[in-house]
This record gives sequence, structure tokens and C-alpha cells, in this order.
Amino acid sequence: MTKRTEISEYGEFALIDHLVKDFHAADASTFKGPGDDAAVIDVGDRYMLLSSDMLLEGIDFDLTYFPLKHLGYKAVVTGINDILAMNGIPRQVTVSIGISAKISVEQLEELYSGIRAACEEYGADLAGGDTTASVTGLAIAVSAVGTVEKDKVSYRSGAQPNDLICITGDLGAAYMGLHLLEREKRAFHGNDNPQPQFGGYEYILRRQLQPYARLDVVKELHEAGIVPTSMIDISDGLASDILQICKSSRCGARIYLEMIPIAKETNRMAAELNADPVVAALNGGGDHELLFTVPLSMRDTVARLGGVELIGHITPESTGAALVTPDGSDIQLQAQGFK
Ligand code: ADP
Ligand code: MG
Repeated sequence: MTKRTEISEYGEFALIDHLVKDFHAADASTFKGPGDDAAVIDVGDRYMLLSSDMLLEGIDFDLTYFPLKHLGYKAVVTGINDILAMNGIPRQVTVSIGISAKISVEQLEELYSGIRAACEEYGADLAGGDTTASVTGLAIAVSAVGTVEKDKVSYRSGAQPNDLICITGDLGAAYMGLHLLEREKRAFHGNDNPQPQFGGYEYILRRQLQPYARLDVVKELHEAGIVPTSMIDISDGLASDILQICKSSRCGARIYLEMIPIAKETNRMAAELNADPVVAALNGGGDHELLFTVPLSMRDTVARLGGVELIGHITPESTGAALVTPDGSDIQLQAQGFK
């Protein structure tokens, strides 16, 4: 009998490791393969960066409340964020779509108006793609290409003990926005006269439906002469992503709970839903912010940057990754990722 192993026995990250373990770069220009936010390709005087992301209807988005224009924008942001997470500048994207029978040309025009808005905003050219039919729902795959000077690339693997841990923007808002949309969708169901209650929640909705890629911060870092010792985009929540940095850099981390930036709208939504906003920040995901480390000597320079918060520091590997609560006790962080 042939062996059958369930995906759940691995989980997302172990599954990827398992699938790619027998691949070894044969081409001399492949400088870094799977394992970081983007592949790094040596094209001469600088590196080319290449990332891929796929969004599937019913898994990554719900068309009952996700406007197609925003979806197009978000798909491009997802790709571009992986280029930014290597400290690179986005240059091109390709967009491939699997179209289900219920989608019209007008709807695809909406989707592409969002793709165009993101390409214009981040200076990336649409360089190609693929179009096919889908039986299960809309699928969107984005590949992004960027470039970075060879001495400016940031990997997940360069964090050193005593480095400062920095974060852009605030966390947990996208997840709370998703909860609000799900709540209103349930209220919508079987209601002849639905009245969505979105007033006062524009911020968390925007964070879910219209995330911004932090090209502004990467440009600020370049201008300030800061090369992060490590960097990752926050896609799965702070806990999972700091653990990725710790694993790749063979280090530990201490993050101070009260320093994690959480917007007041996120706190308000969490209170209303009896949820913990810190859990949303740690495990919620979807924030599209950058997590990076800089040498301690850069403290003053990094503190002067707009939209960047210091939330902790890197420790030796033996201490693990811990969240320090206001009363001074440590909570070990746990990995997430889909199962
Ligand atoms: P991100 O969330 O930044 O898009 P992922 O967690 O999806 O990154 O992927 C982690 C790493 O594994 C990346 O370097 C990515 O290129 C690689 N990877 C993911 N899925 C596959 C796959 N099916 N085959 C090869 N490499 C993969
Ligand atoms: Mg990433």
C-alpha cells in the first residue's frame, strides 16, 4: 500500500522545508533560494529580488465584502511587501488570474483598476501574467521583482544579540477589521433591511481592505543610511514573524508588551468583541508592516524616523523568544502559520 501523510502532520513551514529540501541551486546567479521573503539573484552590480504570492477566494478573501478594486490593490501590496522586506525597491509585477464563471468583464476591470493604482503608487510596472479559468473561485497570483544594492540587502538571518527590534505602523488592526466584516456579514444573512454598523471603524476596515506597503519606510531607511541587520514583513502576526527572525538568525528576542503599537480603534473593536488586542497583534496577521532589527548604536537615528517603534531587543538563542508583560513576567512566544 502506498503511504499517505496528511498535510496537518507538517503545518505550513515544515511542509515547505520538506518539499524544497532536495533542491540545490545549480545556477551561479542564484544567490539565495527559498527561505526568505524574496529570492536574491546576482545580476552584476546589484541584486535582483523575486517573490511570489497567491490569493484564493474563500481562503484569502471573501468577495461578499471585499471590493474587487481593493483586492487588486492588496494583491500587489502583498507582492511588493516581500521586496521591501529585503530592503529592496519594487520594479515590476506580473499578475496571473484564475477566473470563475460568475465573474464579469466589468468586475475584472475593477480588479485591474486596483492593480493599476498599486503599480502607480509603488512605482512597479505590470510586466505580464497569465489568464485561465477556475472552477473553484477567483485566484490571483502576483510575482514581484525588485532591486537592491549588494551592501543594502536585509535577510531574515542577520539579527545579532543586543540589536533593537523595530516595527512600522501599528498591529492587530487588519485582524480586527476582518472580525468586523465577518460580524456584519453574519448580521446581513437573512436580513431584508441590513444596516452595516461601520461608523467609527474606518481605520480598521482600511487596514483590512486597503493595506499600504511601507515603501515610505524603506526609502527613509535608505536616506538615513540604515541597513537593517534583519527584516521580514509581518504577514502572520508579530509572534510568528519574530520567531522566523530568531530561527533564521539563531537568536532569541525580548519584546515588551506595552511597547507593541496598537491603534485606539483596534482596542475599541477588541473591547466590543471581548477579544484581546495583544493577541490580535501577535497572532492576527494581515498587517503588512515591516519588522526589522538595527544595531544598538542606531537607536537615536531609528527613533527619529517617522512611523517606526522600538519594541524590544535581540538576545542569545538560549533564551528563546519572550514577551515581557508590564509586571515583568515572561511569556514564551509560540509559532503560528496555517495548519
Ligand atoms: P511570505 O509569507 O513572505 O510570502 P512564505 O511564508 O509564503 O513567505 O514562504 C516562505 C519561504 O518559502 C519563501 O522563501 C518562499 O519563496 C518559499 N516557498 C513557499 N512556498 C513554496 C513552494 N511551494 N515551493 C518553493 N518555495 C516555497
Ligand atoms: Mg513575506
